Amino acid sequence: RGGQAEKDIPFAKPGSLTRVYAVASGKGGVGKSSVTVNLAAALADSGLRVGVVDADIYGFSVPRMLGVEHRPTQVEDMILPPESHDVKVISIGMFVPGNQPVVWRGPMLHRALQQFLADVFWGDLDVLLLDLPPGTGDIAISVAQLVPGAEILVVTTPQQAAAEVAERAGAIALQTKQRVAGVIENMSWLELPDGARQEIFGSGGGRQVADSLTRSIGAPVELLGQIPLDVTLREGADSGTPVVLGAPDSPAAVALRGIAKAL
Ligand code: ADP
Repeated sequence: RGGQAEKDIPFAKPGSLTRVYAVASGKGGVGKSSVTVNLAAALADSGLRVGVVDADIYGFSVPRMLGVEHRPTQVEDMILPPESHDVKVISIGMFVPGNQPVVWRGPMLHRALQQFLADVFWGDLDVLLLDLPPGTGDIAISVAQLVPGAEILVVTTPQQAAAEVAERAGAIALQTKQRVAGVIENMSWLELPDGARQEIFGSGGGRQVADSLTRSIGAPVELLGQIPLDVTLREGADSGTPVVLGAPDSPAAVALRGIAKAL
């Protein structure tokens, strides 16, 4: 820290007009990052000024999914975030040398998040999305400490086991007194050529998490939407053009746009 005073986090100031959403999941692989980048792209496409902090230390897949080609640049003591599809992005992956494994301890992650929020020149943002690591780790507490007004978005699959873990991730909000903005169910079904829906991962997980959080928090938590399994979503992630932009009429894109509108 070199004796330097920590900079203020603009999003934590009273009267900040930026809505901050921390995207959380109980488990990895449920589509948390895919949801984050698509919501970001959809919101930016609707004319909002949007930023994404990729704090998923295990995944950091956001830059690839958004097709970010540049690295952050430094101007004096501020970091300028690269931009893609009109979304400003900073990722923990941009600061990790090569493909080396990094052992992140809670305090390091807290410090990294603090820097991403305070030392990055975001400009005026309407929405900032934080892609958190899966689980109920220290980072959720850090978010609450650094940006108390951040709201939680919980991503789950329809599967019972996933939903139970997601409930725990969402229940952190009770401890930190944060608002849960809603639950998003991903991989809800696969639409077959005859129009029938095949529920590959079962059904009901999103509803279950929303109802359970409503009970435990004592305030209504809504299921904001269900996103089907969709090959165009995966292709969009691999090619760096989120499906909401690249294939806006696909089933996943329609669902994601609906969720972005509901935020
Ligand atoms: P997480 O951030 O929860 O670890 P990812 O967003 O990285 O999950 O998604 C895991 C994998 O599943 C990725 O390969 C992604 O492209 C794919 N995926 C996520 N959601 C869907 C979906 N609705 N349809 C098809 N593939 C999906």
